[in-house]
Amino acid sequence: GEIATMMDVPITKVIGTCMSLGIMVTMNQRLDAETLSIVADEFGYDVEFITTDIEENLQVEQDAPEDLVERAPIVTVMGHVDHGKTSLLDYIRKENVIAGESGGITQHIGAYGVTLDSGQKIAFLDTPGHEAFTAMRARGAQITDIAIIVIAADDDIMPQTKEAISHAQAAGVPIIFAINKVDKPTANPEKIKERLAGMNLLVEDWGGKIQSQDISAKTGLNVKELLEKVLLEAEILDLKANPDRAAQGTVVEAFLDKGKGYVATILVQTGTLRVGDYVLAGRHHGKIRAMHDERGHVVKEAGPSTPVSVLGLDGAPTAGDKFTVFEDEREAKQIAVKRAQLQREQSVRTQRHITLAEIGRRIALGQFKELNIIIKGDVDGSVEALSDSFSKLSTEEIQVNIIHKGVGAITETDVNLASASDAIIIGFNVRPSQSARTLADKEEIDIRNYSIIYDAIDDLKDAMEGMLSPEI
Ligand code: GDP
Repeated sequence: GEIATMMDVPITKVIGTCMSLGIMVTMNQRLDAETLSIVADEFGYDVEFITTDIEENLQVEQDAPEDLVERAPIVTVMGHVDHGKTSLLDYIRKENVIAGESGGITQHIGAYGVTLDSGQKIAFLDTPGHEAFTAMRARGAQITDIAIIVIAADDDIMPQTKEAISHAQAAGVPIIFAINKVDKPTANPEKIKERLAGMNLLVEDWGGKIQSQDISAKTGLNVKELLEKVLLEAEILDLKANPDRAAQGTVVEAFLDKGKGYVATILVQTGTLRVGDYVLAGRHHGKIRAMHDERGHVVKEAGPSTPVSVLGLDGAPTAGDKFTVFEDEREAKQIAVKRAQLQREQSVRTQRHITLAEIGRRIALGQFKELNIIIKGDVDGSVEALSDSFSKLSTEEIQVNIIHKGVGAITETDVNLASASDAIIIGFNVRPSQSARTLADKEEIDIRNYSIIYDAIDDLKDAMEGMLSPEI
């Protein structure tokens, strides 16, 4: 309807043109960008898309080096189920109280900050696990600076431990191993370190560079030492931000409270957020009415690496949405409205993911240098065989990276990792779960299933050769 009016042609003609293209539409339907262009072309018009650059306008100018000050590291705790992630987060939450504070942290707001005796701070994301971490990354948000991977010393390197390692590595986030439950008589931390070494992950005790700390999340043994290692890693990372600018950051969680309205926890990454600021967060906006910290205390402002729970947004943004402070409310509102509109136009996608069929074309374009692959299989032997064979397909022009491999069905977490790292997924005698399939369709992730190793290798080889630029 709208495009018919803009072109001044009868609606029925536009609908007719769509039908001739094999698209059945109604007058109220929104068309995707490609269809709009084709339809307009039929009537002699060119389409210029303007709304898609709104995100570019949000790019902010770089900070001058002299404006940057040190900021606290933001940490995510990952690891296999029951290895002690929650216990560790709980212990830190309870024991690390700011000097002079009577109680520990009472509110669950999705993230919390602790201050060590030295006065140094660390911010923790309170949703443990690599699933949440990678789901956020798939949405374009990377807030974690350091990953603590918890491994129970009375157990082994388990499938989710491997996943957590792959996910942190794919994100380029440094890992510190917390070898937990050393209070147990059956604990064998040396065995864990040996296993890690076997995976080419050498911890410091083994002459490597990766930090690790034996701990007990139950008794609190060496947790302080673990946090000191976090600070050491942070020092190497040289984390900085400019507190003297309009705040920006990421939404950690959000919900509707019957009494208070929409409550969102946001992690400030740069600048300082203040009560009264006009904020845009995903498709929502509003004026910050009040802010609270994880202790339930009222705060007036929040600087870099500080999590705060805010009131005043007109809706609940999604975890991973970015938030930005605007000088005037109108601008924040306009962008929120435009974003909501863009989201409805399903096919205006921000990102297209790689597919096996597209590898050739992308290589030919010349920008494509690395092919990321996730391998899931029914048995370890075939996973390793595929992984070795795929890696050997690397050429001077294109590097094949196996960013994750594991035994088991293809899950939503695998799809999120593929989405966050622009990877394809190869399944060997395993199928995706229904939810993984649905998510893969939505995110346009290519999942290939094979039951003969050579078929998988041949397909990948063909795809890569198809895209290799012709020899001159
Ligand atoms: P998560 O699934 O990784 O979050 O693991 P939890 O923190 O829920 O811990 C799983 C179980 O291990 C619980 O019963 C904990 O009490 C126990 N646990 C966690 N850390 C330790 C520890 O350091 N020592 C001992 N003995 N038990 C622990």
